Amino acid sequence: MLLTGLAILTIKYLGDARPPADANQNPKGRMMTRVSSIAVNLMVMVLLVACATTGPGGEKSVILLSEEQEKSIGRQVAQEVESQENILQDSLWQSYLTEVGEKIVAVCDRPDLGYRFRVIASDQVNAFAAPGGFIYFYTGILDMMDTEAELAAVMAHEISHVVARHSVKTLQAAYGGIILINLALGKESQELAGQVAGTVLNLALTGYGRSNELQADEYGVHYMVKAGYNPNATVDMFTKLAEASGDQGDRGFFENLTASHPETQERIRKIEAQIAAMDENVQNLPIYPDRYRAMKRRLE
Ligand SMILES: [Zn+2]
Repeated sequence: MLLTGLAILTIKYLGDARPPADANQNPKGRMMTRVSSIAVNLMVMVLLVACATTGPGGEKSVILLSEEQEKSIGRQVAQEVESQENILQDSLWQSYLTEVGEKIVAVCDRPDLGYRFRVIASDQVNAFAAPGGFIYFYTGILDMMDTEAELAAVMAHEISHVVARHSVKTLQAAYGGIILINLALGKESQELAGQVAGTVLNLALTGYGRSNELQADEYGVHYMVKAGYNPNATVDMFTKLAEASGDQGDRGFFENLTASHPETQERIRKIEAQIAAMDENVQNLPIYPDRYRAMKRRLE
């Protein structure tokens, strides 16, 4: 993608270059200087944004979108979501969700992004994360939970999608060359954000694909333990979601994954193996059922 971007850009600038005002200068040479300085600028810029943290243990990936561009896309998605959905009018729930979210954020590998958490009043059994740290939970999924640790489990999974920049990576795969050219031409991020917001929202709502989901599961378990929650809540929650989605035919669990039954079982098995390999003290971490029960009553 990087090479394609550079090639297209070079052709574009060759075509645009005007003859120099100073006739003493070699026009071709000047043009080439301009082209190569643009190429150098582009490469410097790519290097600046390229290596970003995308997971625990110093995990890094090539990321072409700046954090500000990612946030700009996220803001457009958030605007879209909040104009279409009913935000739950309960400030206690909004602050409770934020409190649990911030506990995970504090221990994650992208803690300074400036996250925002919102509850949507809807029976849908779903939760999702838009790029830039905009995180949504439907009351439908909150209603299925019995402990704060179960909320933390889904929260940690969603925050992991943001940490791993799954939506950004998917966008790069789809729009790689265009993103590079827009960056190099200094196009407004708002414009770029507008072009891709629809794609991103769809992605966030439907899930990021099998391997990204498995990665979000793995990071999620890691983060929730770091935040002091019992990781077995992930198994409890995923089992409940898998059973509930079984009743709805081929609709899978959250982010409306169209995961087939064996895939769901595979996710649960992997999480169980990950927990089994952890220090046995994690088994003693709390799940906070009382705190959650009090909040759940407010949804009735
Ligand atoms: Zn997911």
